Amino acid sequence: DRIISANLMMEDQAVELSLRPRYLAEYIGQAQVKDNLKIYIEAAKMRQEALDHVLLYGPPGLGKTTLSNIIANELGVNVRTTSGPAIERPGDLAAILTNLQQGDVLFIDEIHRLHRTVEEVLYPAMEDYALDIMIGKGPSARSVRLDLPPFTLVGATTRIGLLSSPLRDRFGVVSRLEYYTVEELTYIVSRTSDILQVQIVGEAAREIGMRSRGTPRIANRLLRRVRDFAQVKGDGIITVDIAKASLRLIQVDDLGLDEIDHKMLRAIILNFQGGPVGLDTIAATIGEESQTIEDVYEPYLLQIGFLQRTPRGRTVTPLAYRHLGLPIPGQQD
Ligand code: ADP
Repeated sequence: DRIISANLMMEDQAVELSLRPRYLAEYIGQAQVKDNLKIYIEAAKMRQEALDHVLLYGPPGLGKTTLSNIIANELGVNVRTTSGPAIERPGDLAAILTNLQQGDVLFIDEIHRLHRTVEEVLYPAMEDYALDIMIGKGPSARSVRLDLPPFTLVGATTRIGLLSSPLRDRFGVVSRLEYYTVEELTYIVSRTSDILQVQIVGEAAREIGMRSRGTPRIANRLLRRVRDFAQVKGDGIITVDIAKASLRLIQVDDLGLDEIDHKMLRAIILNFQGGPVGLDTIAATIGEESQTIEDVYEPYLLQIGFLQRTPRGRTVTPLAYRHLGLPIPGQQD
């Protein structure tokens, strides 16, 4: 596993629960999403109604699960958490829905991976707070409608394009989470240090923030690695020198790129004159799967402008050449 992967790893699981902000005021960044939600939550509370269904999308590790829990806390209701692939049959979803209390939040992570048959149960549940059940078989079969308590579905996805349009249309609030700025990540690192009771100097927090690929989950993970280093090699305090040295040791460069990012960029530059080159060709060259490159490696490189997607494939930009210390083709020196 790559240390700079935004996906949830085993090592994150235990600690993330204690690091999660619990209320909107503690949730750093994402100002627009937060401002909107604040108003909708306030309004729902005033009307004593369930909040409209909310769809959160964006890359992993940006705080979708965290936000779903915050929504429930702010509303003062319970949250039931599940995921698309975990709900195997329509009956599984029916069981979850009938166990909800008035106003509860149902969080479905990876909602783009719901089975079609399960999704169909969700439509009347979202629209009318109702469950349609078939009783009997053959010609005598009939459908019976069961009322559900009003509830709020919070769906999360990293792949909004894979959501069917009938499902997407049933969300009243659709919010995209953005990559965090270095300032926001620096703040998150300081906040996490407080919770973990680690001493860190401001500049060191910034060093970690800079290399976190816009992603709080990565910021928190890097901080934990640097903390280990500070304990073993220093006196436990994270100074700038300790932060820099340990990040160098775990091979995360000052933009948060690791060896695999370097390998891929170099492969495109050295083997394909910087591109354009097709995804499958890149994949074969570096021995990775196209899907992994598209979902995991590429988004951040596109985000920082090191890679461009063109109709004929991927192209490496001059920014990336400069970062790797390679001469830019067609330019003197
Ligand atoms: P996602 O569901 O989008 O993959 P999570 O909600 O699990 O992401 O967030 C990963 C971790 O990052 C959380 O445990 C939390 O500690 C941290 N985090 C995410 N968003 C924020 C934020 N806005 N402020 C502070 N910490 C955050």
